[in-house]
Amino acid sequence: MMNFALSEEQTQLQELARKFAKEEIIPKAAHHDETGEYPREIAKKAWEVGLMNTHIPQEYGGLGLGVLEGCIITEELAYGCTGIATAMEANTLAAAPVIVAGNDEQKKEFLGRLSSEARFAAYCVTEPGAGSDVSGIRTQAKKLGSDYVITGSKMWITNGSVADWYFVLAYTDPSQKHKGMSGFIVPADTPGITVGKKEWNMGQRSSDTRGISFDEVKIPEKYRLGREGEGFKIAMSAFDHTRPAVAAGAVGLSRRAMDEAIQYAKTRKTFGQPIANYQAISFMIADMARDIEAARLLVHKAAWTIDQGQRNTKLAAMAKVFAADTAMRITTDAVQVFGGYGYSKEYPVEKLMRDAKIYQIYEGTSQIQRLIISRELFD
Ligand SMILES: Cc1cc2nc3c(=O)[nH]c(=O)nc-3n(C[C@H](O)[C@H](O)[C@H](O)COP(=O)(O)OP(=O)(O)OC[C@H]3O[C@@H](n4cnc5c(N)ncnc54)[C@H](O)[C@@H]3O)c2cc1C
Repeated sequence: MMNFALSEEQTQLQELARKFAKEEIIPKAAHHDETGEYPREIAKKAWEVGLMNTHIPQEYGGLGLGVLEGCIITEELAYGCTGIATAMEANTLAAAPVIVAGNDEQKKEFLGRLSSEARFAAYCVTEPGAGSDVSGIRTQAKKLGSDYVITGSKMWITNGSVADWYFVLAYTDPSQKHKGMSGFIVPADTPGITVGKKEWNMGQRSSDTRGISFDEVKIPEKYRLGREGEGFKIAMSAFDHTRPAVAAGAVGLSRRAMDEAIQYAKTRKTFGQPIANYQAISFMIADMARDIEAARLLVHKAAWTIDQGQRNTKLAAMAKVFAADTAMRITTDAVQVFGGYGYSKEYPVEKLMRDAKIYQIYEGTSQIQRLIISRELFD
């Protein structure tokens, strides 16, 4: 039986997140965008009311909610500010490899750290010379007795300077390409780690993005996730859990842009009447509503599928690329609806357009999502 309605619990979560976005995020979003200040206090409050780490299983101190519930929350937080929402969501990406492949002891220690206090974690795969082509990474983890020694540089790491621990992908056997990579949990206070300067990005500026270098960082073998050689699989399977939520963020951003465009179109007058009366404007907004609805349906299906224990790789990629491309188009059209004012920092839509662009880049570019979808279709 098909049922598109949210359950009572999902509706309550949605209302809680919507209220949080209205009261805690929207009033401070412009400040964080201008200054790039990390939204630590907002994240702490979100953690306190139960809007962070919702996916961590109950036995490790989390709420044990599904990917779908995470998407419902993320859409609302992203409506408030996607930079602030991304700062919170990065924990989900870092925790996913531990949830997917960690043993009981690793989950207790590292998921427990996130659920017992408002702490952050980061996912370290990308390097200066390798983003889409993960096999191009150069970081190596060499076995030394019962330890591993990690050396290499990571780039564009969200939550880089605030993380309590990192998920790090490194080669344990470079001759084996994808099958020679292993995944590690690295506590951020381990000697040999240097965190670089904050990148001053186009959008989502309150999110903390940095390079991180690992110089002979020694960690015990017990911090390796899964077996040697399983790192690539672990790192990629995390995306099946997180891409629906990233796409949900793009839906929240799109919805905000549409609401701003509707409000403005009702009040701005040209040639004696509100611009909403012109079909050129109202059809642009009708297309926004259509695409938001379609994107959300894809997001919810991708999330629901993995929550049912079924493989969702193709659907997660579809949701991510569709929602990201939709957000870019809708925010660009919202600026158009505002005319010259849309181009000004005095009005909200220029920020939304800047914030949208990264959805087509991080967690796999829109080109890479299409590559994944086509491989799934042709394989
Ligand atoms: C703000 C921000 C936050 C990020 N956060 C994280 C993080 O927390 N952790 C992390 O590990 N990484 C993170 N990243 C990295 C991000 O995932 C990569 O930037 C992204 O995967 C693209 O890699 P790249 O930048 O090296 O681009 P490249 O891989 O060099 O790609 C350049 C262009 O070529 C295209 N392209 C590449 N290969 C193909 C192909 N086979 N077919 C068609 N087109 C192709 C791409 O789509 C893109 O348009 C973040 C990046 C940014 C900007």
